[in-house]
Amino acid sequence: MTTRTAQPRTSVIDRIGSSGPVFSVEFFPPKDEAGEAELWRAIRRLEPLDPAFVSVTYGAGGSSRDRTIRTTARIATDTTLVPMAHLTAVSHSRAELRHVIGSYAAAGITNVLAVRGDPPGDPLGEWTPHPEGLMYADELVRLVRGSGNFCVGVAAFPYRHPRSADDDSDLQRLLGKIRAGADFAVTQMFWEPDGFLRLRDRLAAAGCDVPLLPGIMPLLSARTMQRGPELSGAPFPPHLAERMAPYAEDAKAFRAAGMDLTTELCERLIAEGVRGLHFYTLNRSPATAELVGRLGLGRTAVSA
Ligand SMILES: Cc1cc2nc3c(=O)[nH]c(=O)nc-3n(C[C@H](O)[C@H](O)[C@H](O)COP(=O)(O)OP(=O)(O)OC[C@H]3O[C@@H](n4cnc5c(N)ncnc54)[C@H](O)[C@@H]3O)c2cc1C
Repeated sequence: MTTRTAQPRTSVIDRIGSSGPVFSVEFFPPKDEAGEAELWRAIRRLEPLDPAFVSVTYGAGGSSRDRTIRTTARIATDTTLVPMAHLTAVSHSRAELRHVIGSYAAAGITNVLAVRGDPPGDPLGEWTPHPEGLMYADELVRLVRGSGNFCVGVAAFPYRHPRSADDDSDLQRLLGKIRAGADFAVTQMFWEPDGFLRLRDRLAAAGCDVPLLPGIMPLLSARTMQRGPELSGAPFPPHLAERMAPYAEDAKAFRAAGMDLTTELCERLIAEGVRGLHFYTLNRSPATAELVGRLGLGRTAVSA
């Protein structure tokens, strides 16, 4: 019997590089066999396009802990991809968090996105720290950093985090996470570039040059248009809603128009010099693969 071991991986920050924009993708750990098959179809479809890294989310309240570890570890052993595991502080003691970080290291995962997580059940409900746990993501960044040789990412919010009182305090918290040791930040989804570009300018004005990767949710359905802003806090601008309105009753036409809109958003971000685009895939590959092709990113640019 041969035992597969994870090969040492490049870090996300190395992969983001500085020679032209890259793309990365986000998956969630599947709940059942059908979900597992769907995820692996997506991974195999996207792998040849050479994403800079692929990330796997951590379920609310640690609910997906084992699945996140298993999925990310399998990506490390069974693919050529650079994996990044998410980790949340909510509902975990420090000892449990150290244990998960140890499992990541043992599986050859050296990239971690350190986020606080939301209260299980109601994301906007009262946030109560575990009695032996952490309160904010900057503490988690320090814990991960202090636990080994990890490349660490954090979350950023172009339209500020819903719990932040104002843009300034939101920026200070993001800077605090970077001072704590974060190498880069990935943003919540958004629909027009202004909030992202403002945030990037404000980081630069504060003397911070860590890469800020825009999180892109392809606009594929009227449901995304409705739920996306609710979940992210990023407004869906009226002029874009007006543009999409004629397609509300026609799913195919909506998808086509939504892909055009998403392509335009990505093109503007690339023109503004972003170092990478992070696609929220919902474990499906077609929209991401199509966007990567349209934008000439990844290996498509070489083979085209
Ligand atoms: C790219 C990305 C990936 C994500 N992945 C996951 C995932 O895998 N699993 C999951 O459950 N959730 C995930 N989330 C959601 C995230 O957990 C929530 O948005 C959460 O509410 C905020 O996490 P954070 O790391 O930004 O928290 P923090 O940076 O701790 O900020 C939370 C709030 O507290 C405030 N704050 C921070 N520090 C202080 C302080 N010292 N004093 C006072 N106030 C402070 C901040 O301004 C903010 O309002 C992700 C979000 C993004 C953008």
